[in-house]
Amino acid sequence: MTRIAIIGAGPSGMAQLRAFQSAKAKGQQVPEIVCFEKQNDWGGLWNYTWRTGVDQYGNSVHGSMYRYLWSNGPKEALEFADYTFDEHFKKPIASYPPRAVLWDYIKGRVEKAGVKDQVRFNSSVNQVDFDDGTQLFTVQVCDHINDQTYTEQFDYVVVASGHFSTPKTPEYEGFDIFNGRILHAHDFRDAVQFKDKTILIVGSSYSAEDVGSQCYKYGAKQIYSCYRSQPMGYKWPKNWTEKHQLVRVDENSAYFADGTSARVDAIILCTGYLHHFPYMAENLCLKTHNCLYPQNLYQGVVWEQNPKLFYLGMQDQWYTFNMFDAQAWYVRDIIMGKIVLPDAETMQAHSNSWHLREQKLKNSEQMVRFQGEYIRQLIDATDYPSFNIDAVNEVFMQWKKHKKDNIMAFRDKTYRSVMTGKMSKPHHTPWLYALDDSLEAYLQTGNQEQKAM
Ligand SMILES: Cc1cc2nc3c(=O)[nH]c(=O)nc-3n(C[C@H](O)[C@H](O)[C@H](O)COP(=O)(O)OP(=O)(O)OC[C@H]3O[C@@H](n4cnc5c(N)ncnc54)[C@H](O)[C@@H]3O)c2cc1C
Repeated sequence: MTRIAIIGAGPSGMAQLRAFQSAKAKGQQVPEIVCFEKQNDWGGLWNYTWRTGVDQYGNSVHGSMYRYLWSNGPKEALEFADYTFDEHFKKPIASYPPRAVLWDYIKGRVEKAGVKDQVRFNSSVNQVDFDDGTQLFTVQVCDHINDQTYTEQFDYVVVASGHFSTPKTPEYEGFDIFNGRILHAHDFRDAVQFKDKTILIVGSSYSAEDVGSQCYKYGAKQIYSCYRSQPMGYKWPKNWTEKHQLVRVDENSAYFADGTSARVDAIILCTGYLHHFPYMAENLCLKTHNCLYPQNLYQGVVWEQNPKLFYLGMQDQWYTFNMFDAQAWYVRDIIMGKIVLPDAETMQAHSNSWHLREQKLKNSEQMVRFQGEYIRQLIDATDYPSFNIDAVNEVFMQWKKHKKDNIMAFRDKTYRSVMTGKMSKPHHTPWLYALDDSLEAYLQTGNQEQKAM
């Protein structure tokens, strides 16, 4: 029987499991699937860990999420087309759920699908090689429970190990003598640690915006953020100042390109992540920066040099969960022979044309529409339930506007589900005052929490 290895049981790997199960539910014969997951549960980044550095087995910690993380985009933009929030929660919920609520949602679909027995947890993939003679992949795995390493062979490999876990850490003059704490956003776990502190956020992307907002919400005294090219440009609270590029630090202070300086207690590097696949043989290894159309991946998923290998979720992400679905259904249909791939030259020409189009994108609106179009043509090729991509694009546009209007209140806005047509409900407590991010607190229809600052 054809065997498929999926590496990682985060949202992308879970989408792949669900894609095959949906074909099986329609009576189709599907291959044998083994999903290897190095953590002890599924959900990928959404499966919170307090750990930093290395995990209990000595592997680098995968998690980059933190306590009190709430969705940074409306749930209406990421909703599964085959499993709505209404179906899962049995009642309308607000548009920006906290981490635990989204984790519950993504788990709900695959629990219903009954695919957990296909996942080998506590199992790290250490090496993947391909044999041209046998046309098989050899996957070397460490079973951490039994502390044993073994190899198995597969016809296809789907890499779904994510790309927001290996921090990109710049070096600045004086970091080695700075008296405070320096950490990357990957190791940021709890904003409460920075209560009453003056912090410097290095970077100007989502992490910078959200880590800084968390610290503000949980009582940081003063926030500085610094940018290389463009300020984030939101209407920040009074105790948040955007600075030019960081030049150097000394024992207590940071010095910026505009000649100003500030005393800071801690520096948080929100400087991005590396695509990092140390377990892949050189000729199978995706090498890319974070972009919307990584090179060498036909349709964003097929490894052009060996189309038995696939990568899911490797794009920069406006769309997330439903994009992973679109990709997973597409990959499933290639493996099951329903989609026939063109020759290598045609695949490369196709990828290059998309890659060139990406180079011409000028602003976030164009980027969202570009990714939406990419997803649309994947969905059109499979039986994944079709949904209105233009309407989702508009949700993203509203979201951008709401952030511009009030960066500390955009999460209080509500949106209409593209899948069900229903409006979401306002949350019982404005985000800024909602200090308890638990599933229970979120789902209750209770009283306003008080701002404890
Ligand atoms: C701080 C932060 C906040 C985010 N917030 C949002 C948000 O609000 N909304 C949103 O839609 N998206 C958000 N994202 C984006 C996030 O990338 C996606 O939501 C999603 O988690 C990606 O799924 P994935 O399965 O591709 O990767 P991951 O979630 O990273 O999962 C990959 C899985 O692979 C496993 N793995 C890795 N290496 C191995 C190995 N060698 N062997 C076995 N298993 C392995 C990992 O343990 C993990 O379970 C956020 C990302 C970050 C970092």
